[in-house]
Amino acid sequence: KGAVIGLDIGGTKTRGVRFEDGIPVADESVGSSNVQNVTPEEAARNLAELFARIGGGEVAQVYAGAGGIDTDDDAAALAALIAPHVPGARVTVVHDSRLLLAAGGARTGVAVIAGTGSAAWGRNSRGEEARAGGWGYLLGDEGSGYWLGREAVRHSLRRMNQGLEPDELTKALLASCGVDHPNKLIALFHSSETGRRFWAQQARLVVEAADAGHLPSQALMDQAGRDLADLAEQTVRQLGIDGPVILGSGLGMNVPRLQESFRTALAAAGITDVRVLQQEPVFGVLQLVAEQD
Ligand code: BGC
Repeated sequence: KGAVIGLDIGGTKTRGVRFEDGIPVADESVGSSNVQNVTPEEAARNLAELFARIGGGEVAQVYAGAGGIDTDDDAAALAALIAPHVPGARVTVVHDSRLLLAAGGARTGVAVIAGTGSAAWGRNSRGEEARAGGWGYLLGDEGSGYWLGREAVRHSLRRMNQGLEPDELTKALLASCGVDHPNKLIALFHSSETGRRFWAQQARLVVEAADAGHLPSQALMDQAGRDLADLAEQTVRQLGIDGPVILGSGLGMNVPRLQESFRTALAAAGITDVRVLQQEPVFGVLQLVAEQD
């Protein structure tokens, strides 16, 4: 017996919760330790900081859900970074979308992550698993925070191409990036000072502009919802089920406009059991540990 430590490793942060007898007793966040996005050195540094805060004492098990875990080798590489901090503990590494389904209280169904990145994953009652998306920001991540941030930049550059003045979204983006002309966004986008997290954080500008009535931002939010719905639908079809579909992570849990276009697109595909996650994915760890043999 001992503590269980749950980790949710996303594209922007690593959240760790320590459970003693099923009760959360520590909850800390550090930078990302997703090895698809940060160097192994940075991942190791962030994990060391996290375990310095919530590790120690007797730890029976660490259960981690991480983005960028697509093969057994990916999982083993991350487990090897975690293990030295918890000698003797069982270390399990799964894809981050698994935490989300469990946190939604579902054993079967499809979980859709709309955070820094995006992905869908699900399971049916025969135990078959399927996924869609989760290709990372260079290949996909449609409907994610990164995608919205990048689209805000592209919107601004398209207007520049057309000789148009900056609109509300572009003005907000320039202010947030600390530059005075859209042409400076090009170098900034490619510079090593910005990256996936930085651009994902600009997604909130699109959300705010859409809420203030900016039509191109509304169109982007709708597109994001539809793209996420496509991922969900593809996964649902592979599994031969009809739900539930659970939407989670930062954008998914907090942006009503995105939730609405997601629901509308799924309803058009005949999928109506659509839920928004009510607790952070990391709390799904307790169910996953309980289900383990
Ligand atoms: C990663 C996926 C991950 C998703 C959500 C994507 O960028 O490629 O592995 O599941 O983000 O975190």
